[in-house]
Amino acid sequence: MSSVSGEKQGIQRLMKLTPPKDQWTPVDSALHTPKMFFCNYKKAQERMFAAIYHTFKHHYQNNFLYHRVCEVNGITPDQITSEYDVQKIPLLPDAFFKDYPDGNKFLHWLKTIFTGSLPKPFFKSNNPSYDEIIDEFNRKGTSIMFTSGTSGRFSFIPRDTRSWNRVKYSAMKSVMELMDYNPTDQVILLIPDPRQTNLTIASLFGIAYDLYDPSNIHVALDMKITTQFLRMQRDETIGLSEKLKAKALATISPLVQRNSDLRVIHLLEEAEKNKKRLNIAGPPFWLDQIMERMKKEGTTVRLPESQILTGGGWKAEENKRLPEELFREKVTEILGIPEERYHDVYAMSECSSVFLSCEGHYKHIPPVVIPLVLDENLNPLGYEQVGRFAFIDPLPDSYPGFIITGDKVKILERCPKCNREGPVLDVEVTRMPGFEGRGCAAIMAELMQKDGEDHSELPVG
Ligand SMILES: [Zn+2]
Repeated sequence: MSSVSGEKQGIQRLMKLTPPKDQWTPVDSALHTPKMFFCNYKKAQERMFAAIYHTFKHHYQNNFLYHRVCEVNGITPDQITSEYDVQKIPLLPDAFFKDYPDGNKFLHWLKTIFTGSLPKPFFKSNNPSYDEIIDEFNRKGTSIMFTSGTSGRFSFIPRDTRSWNRVKYSAMKSVMELMDYNPTDQVILLIPDPRQTNLTIASLFGIAYDLYDPSNIHVALDMKITTQFLRMQRDETIGLSEKLKAKALATISPLVQRNSDLRVIHLLEEAEKNKKRLNIAGPPFWLDQIMERMKKEGTTVRLPESQILTGGGWKAEENKRLPEELFREKVTEILGIPEERYHDVYAMSECSSVFLSCEGHYKHIPPVVIPLVLDENLNPLGYEQVGRFAFIDPLPDSYPGFIITGDKVKILERCPKCNREGPVLDVEVTRMPGFEGRGCAAIMAELMQKDGEDHSELPVG
């Protein structure tokens, strides 16, 4: 953190997301008590067992589906008596949140994965669309984040206000401790307007609105991305004329893309001229697209005080994939941002914490989530071993955050590059073989395919 007043402002911003102490559950104690996440990691984790026990019991008692899973596994809260028992907690595959039925059974499904009772929605029709359902719950204070993998199936993750505030709080702590945080910085978000969409990547990067002054935030794409938009984009509509219509509607036109990129380049040049600090955040393919445009025009900027935060993966533009190291060099060459001011984040809809890289490019695991690496029989592996990533996340009240992902990772006991405490993810996170690609960057990249390209021939995602 760069200044005293910045630090003060940061604390004030965190306070806004902290409930009054007399309303704290053990989960709030675990999240809001540690002053620092990565300073004294052991101390920051002191309250985690109580939080996990509290959350596990809550989902066991109030989530119909999860209760069944526990019954099948023969696990009850009574058996979770110390931190050594935490690994007995039944985990759900992330596919669980994709396993929704179509049509008007969707609402019922949402009720069964939701812990406790959903707010009572009101719909004009008997068969509301996903988007109508998402909008109505937004109005009632329940946000349903969505993302989509290569299969075209969405994942839907419902969060009540309290659970969503915890996501924001945890992510903000990571930004404040791992990046050079200054609340008066300018921000460029290479995403659709987060106030208009529940697409995961937009919601997560939209936390910028809690970290920075909204009048200093520039959003690159002023449009609403709905599930219908994405389904049309994936050519799931029937009939040829429908398909043609969908194609015309559901790709962002090259002209809109070009204008958006030129506006971003203009902001970069203004920041250089006025010596302003910028934070540029978004999926790497988009930043690459902008840098390519600058390269073609022979322009560069020098922004030594600015920072980059990429996230969402590369998936859709696999052919353009650059190893992170090469990409960082390109950022330094074209934007004049030094490598240690380049950060990448690994995040997913299902997890309340984000894994943000430090100046040494290792992704730090916050003390409010228990990371696990599993072998093919789902037995836990130790540090330095490659396996399938799983986690125990006590923060969400609205769904069980005990989840096995399809991502392949390696966890190191501590960061090889910095002095912060706690485990880190190794630089590269990839998908397990046989698991569909995931990622919001994939969705965004698909939206930006140039005219004339045939969607159906491209690997989706
Ligand atoms: Zn580090």
